[in-house]
Amino acid sequence: MSEIPEKIFDAAIVGLGPSGATLARLLASRGLSVVAVDRKKSDPDSGGFQKPCGGLLAEDAQRSLSRQGLSLPKSVLADPQLFSVRTIDLRTARERTYRRFYINMNRHRFDLWLKSLIPASATVFHDATVRNFSRNENGIFELSVYAEHEEKRIFARTLIGADGASSLIRRKLFPEHKIRDYTAVQQWFSDAQARPLYACFFDDRLTDCYGWAVSKDGELVFGAAFPREDSSKAYELFRERAARFGFSLKKPVRTEACRVLRPEKMSDFVLGDGNGAFLIGEAAGMISPSSLEGMSYAMDSAEILADILAAAGSLAPEKFPQLAEDYRKRSRKLRLKLLTKILKNPFMYNPALRNLVMRSGIAAERVKN
Ligand SMILES: Cc1cc2nc3c(=O)[nH]c(=O)nc-3n(C[C@H](O)[C@H](O)[C@H](O)COP(=O)(O)OP(=O)(O)OC[C@H]3O[C@@H](n4cnc5c(N)ncnc54)[C@H](O)[C@@H]3O)c2cc1C
Repeated sequence: MSEIPEKIFDAAIVGLGPSGATLARLLASRGLSVVAVDRKKSDPDSGGFQKPCGGLLAEDAQRSLSRQGLSLPKSVLADPQLFSVRTIDLRTARERTYRRFYINMNRHRFDLWLKSLIPASATVFHDATVRNFSRNENGIFELSVYAEHEEKRIFARTLIGADGASSLIRRKLFPEHKIRDYTAVQQWFSDAQARPLYACFFDDRLTDCYGWAVSKDGELVFGAAFPREDSSKAYELFRERAARFGFSLKKPVRTEACRVLRPEKMSDFVLGDGNGAFLIGEAAGMISPSSLEGMSYAMDSAEILADILAAAGSLAPEKFPQLAEDYRKRSRKLRLKLLTKILKNPFMYNPALRNLVMRSGIAAERVKN
């Protein structure tokens, strides 16, 4: 067991997805001492953990990047860019096409690019896992981290869980907290689709969530999210039914699965313990339950918390309740925005209402083949 002697960081960030990488960049650039631990390797071609994702950057996420003065490098973009979504109800066979304004990306490269922007003043452990944490008698967080083939101990005044849907930090701080969760299954297919596309699928016999297909760099990623039980069987059936609509879904080159949260009410969001531990991004439950869009909420919650921690001056324990209250107040708009997505849900996921909307053709595009 090795220790980083006498170094107590201002902030220890667990996870460097869009939320953690944004927070680490903003805090370190404002002079706080930051340590961050992330499972992903730093080299895009060396394998290791990759977040399963559709890799579509929504307008809100584009806005977050623009507010932070960032522009996307070409290496992060996937080919081609898509302007509409073909929406198919697999049960009624009803189909419509709607305009969409997403940027089609390689999600792993996006995550690594965000990580690469963290200033060198921060200490970052790549390919490393936080296995446990506790708070000592002085209120300092002690993290036990597996990195570089050994256990390390890291000390910090504040602890930030940016560790996604299965957050260890959330589970340990709030063992009683329950939030609706689904299993997302995705496969990548090498058989070229005649025409690149983005498609969305509904099938209320198999899931009250949805499925997607996105062309990316010569492959097609096809996935869907299911209530937790029997998701692999449900996925097989979903794929079979989608294939009947002319999709080439025969030769999967890789399969991925992970947990995805679907908040239903305000109390599903958890922001921290009021005692120096905070949650951001999907670890806090911030993801749209209707579209599963989560990158903008990840970056926006990180930006709010960065402003609060950077303005605090010293991070003394007596300030923690006020900082928690500030975070609660300033993230309220974000949480209300998610609540409106919850209210919008029935229009997408109630089969009768969806059928009505699709039949009406409201907002649909006429596609000339
Ligand atoms: C299948 C699928 C498709 C999706 N498609 C889209 C989409 O197209 N567009 C969109 O906006 N959103 C999409 N989302 C949602 C989006 O991926 C998440 O909401 C978003 O990634 C949340 O960002 P985050 O930084 O909070 O967490 P994450 O991106 O999940 O990052 C958490 C990071 O924490 C690290 N980590 C976790 N535990 C530990 C630990 N103990 N020690 C060290 N590191 C740890 C991991 O390396 C991980 O990278 C999708 C989600 C799923 C499941």
